[in-house]
Amino acid sequence: MRKVALIVFTLWAVAACHQEPQSSQYELYVFGTMVGITLYGVEEEVEQTAVSRITQDFQRMHHDWHAWEPGPLVDINQALAQGQSIRVIPSLIPIIEQSRELSRQSEGLFDPAIGGLLNLWGFQSSVRPNGPPPDDAAIARWVKAAPRMDDLTLDGDMLSSSNPAVQLDFGAFAKGYAVDLAIERLRELGIENAIVNAGGDLRAIGSKGGEPWRVGVRHPQGGGVLATIEVSGDESVFTSGNYERYREHEGVRYTHILDPRTGMPVNGITSVTVLHDNGAVADAAATALVVAGTQDWERIAARMGISHVMLVDDEGGIHMSPAMRERVQFQEQ
Ligand code: ADP
Ligand code: MG
Repeated sequence: MRKVALIVFTLWAVAACHQEPQSSQYELYVFGTMVGITLYGVEEEVEQTAVSRITQDFQRMHHDWHAWEPGPLVDINQALAQGQSIRVIPSLIPIIEQSRELSRQSEGLFDPAIGGLLNLWGFQSSVRPNGPPPDDAAIARWVKAAPRMDDLTLDGDMLSSSNPAVQLDFGAFAKGYAVDLAIERLRELGIENAIVNAGGDLRAIGSKGGEPWRVGVRHPQGGGVLATIEVSGDESVFTSGNYERYREHEGVRYTHILDPRTGMPVNGITSVTVLHDNGAVADAAATALVVAGTQDWERIAARMGISHVMLVDDEGGIHMSPAMRERVQFQEQ
């Protein structure tokens, strides 16, 4: 497990390749994913500063937010499980607050207090879990304990929980939050035209010399591009899916997105793509809407203030909000 984590830090290999006169592409490997940074019309020296600051930020975040490798979040989870209050490092406070708000808006379907359940299912690991699903009784105990973000109290920088079952795991929106911070970094340096792309989930600002950025929506099966969207100004495109991480036992796949109401992996939804200005919101919403499924996605999207949604069900059916329908262009097959 540790070895895999070390690989995550090999991000010094920052490769720059100038594709077109004014556009450059950098790649870092962090959070277990390739992060691509596309910059348009930026001086090389400023680019280097931007990329090195973002690299440092991502390294720090990876350490501070990791739910099972030793670090601040693991310490927090230990204290909460023991009913103790604990001082929280400053960088985690806005994450706790923003994720709590998003969790409320999603009616608890996006639930960053879900770490205990993820651990039961073997998803707090860098290797794919295998073997039979956890015991029904253990799942039922977790569901009964019903840990939620609203069990937490932040008093200044002191965090405590009225429910010892709360175990924080920000896996469902860390990428979005990190992409937002990276965009902030770019703006601090006066960069107005860029894309930060974390493994297919991205935020784009400005334009490509006046032309909109054209970005791909990940295909739910086997990678590739399902559709394209033109983005300009400031927009994020995030996809959550059940196609990358799962547990398999006797031919049954158990996906890594869990329904906090039942303690069980979500069924029937292949992927959800959300378009929204803020990356963290888009990321949390994409996960929440996978849990909401074909029945409830419209209600939860409305509650979360999301107007652009595309949901692909396991039969290949595509469900879209009217606003999304106007933006998506499908690839010719
Ligand atoms: P991806 O990794 O495909 O970008 P997500 O953004 O949807 O996917 O994040 C999925 C991760 O979120 C899971 O691997 C797990 O760590 C965590 N998770 C699973 N179910 C939930 C849930 N209901 N609420 C919050 N986090 C969840
Ligand atoms: Mg997500």
